[in-house]
Amino acid sequence: MENIKCLIIGSGPAGYTAAIYAARANLSPVLIEGPQLGGQLMTTTEVENFPGYPNGVQPFEMMDDMRKQAERFGTTFVSGCVTHVELDANGGLHTIWVEEQKLYQTQTLIIATGASAKYLGIESEQTYRGRGVSACATCDGFFYRGKTVAVVGGGDTACEEAAYLAGLCQKVYMIVRKPFLRASQIMQQRVMENPKIEVLFECNTLQLTGEGKVQGADLIYKKGTPEEQVKHIDINGFFLAIGHHPNTKLFETALQLDKEGYIITTPGTPCTTIPGVYAAGDCADPHYRQAIVAAASGCKAAIEANNYLKQK
Ligand code: NDP
Repeated sequence: MENIKCLIIGSGPAGYTAAIYAARANLSPVLIEGPQLGGQLMTTTEVENFPGYPNGVQPFEMMDDMRKQAERFGTTFVSGCVTHVELDANGGLHTIWVEEQKLYQTQTLIIATGASAKYLGIESEQTYRGRGVSACATCDGFFYRGKTVAVVGGGDTACEEAAYLAGLCQKVYMIVRKPFLRASQIMQQRVMENPKIEVLFECNTLQLTGEGKVQGADLIYKKGTPEEQVKHIDINGFFLAIGHHPNTKLFETALQLDKEGYIITTPGTPCTTIPGVYAAGDCADPHYRQAIVAAASGCKAAIEANNYLKQK
């Protein structure tokens, strides 16, 4: 069993930024990289909205740069997944298992496990991932300027994404499985009044079509009723907005989570209900879900961890 000052779980912008700050504060952090090296960002095509990259950057390049920066100051990287945690509610040592084998005891823990977009589960969605399928309009919408896209979902996120995309694209379909939108009244109004947005109620996606990239979608209208029919729409982009789930299952019993599973922190800080345990990035952020916001919260978490150790 290794005893350490600071353990970070997650290798997205929050985890790497926490590592840079913790390493520069001489906490000799150990970072457990998790199942997706680089985090959710690695599923997007190009990053154009992270400050410091005037010409945009490939996600793997940006995450590799962050990793190297954390390494330069003495972060130790461990590949593998955390399989079990035991957190000391009184702020003593927290015990972390990696792949059921390697054990760490750490004085501070920074959780940066991120969130995962929900997908429909149809086969073609995976085939076209990164080639017309996206789960983030803010990240990828720009690539569809002047084109026709579809957004799946009828909640606030779907409406926001549709409205955002309508500012860039010539036409936006919303594919909604119910005969109504679930979103707040104001968002519904915004969508219904936008001449570029057409809401296709009571439709589910059967499959995406196209030569090497998304060029269309087959939808089923009023499935299981006498009016059932298959409709085809021509689109260049297919945006999922059917929700996210935070990757927080490991902490279900140890920490306070909200009803969606996001880790509850003291507002404006990364502090959880347990002293010395911090949550950074999308695992504690149901709202912004941006790399730059995640990076900033990773920074805050490392500063808090350092202050906590100094006070101890
Ligand atoms: P929601 O859970 O509110 O909505 C998800 C939408 O996706 C629903 O319309 C749901 O349909 C649909 N959906 C789910 N699964 C499928 C599926 N398999 N096939 C087709 N459609 C599917 O998620 P959001 O991400 O929109 O919002 C999460 C929370 O964040 C909400 O509380 C929301 O209010 C909040 N939010 C607030 C914002 C704001 O205030 N500006 C902005 C964004 C989010 P159905 O209705 O049939 O279940």
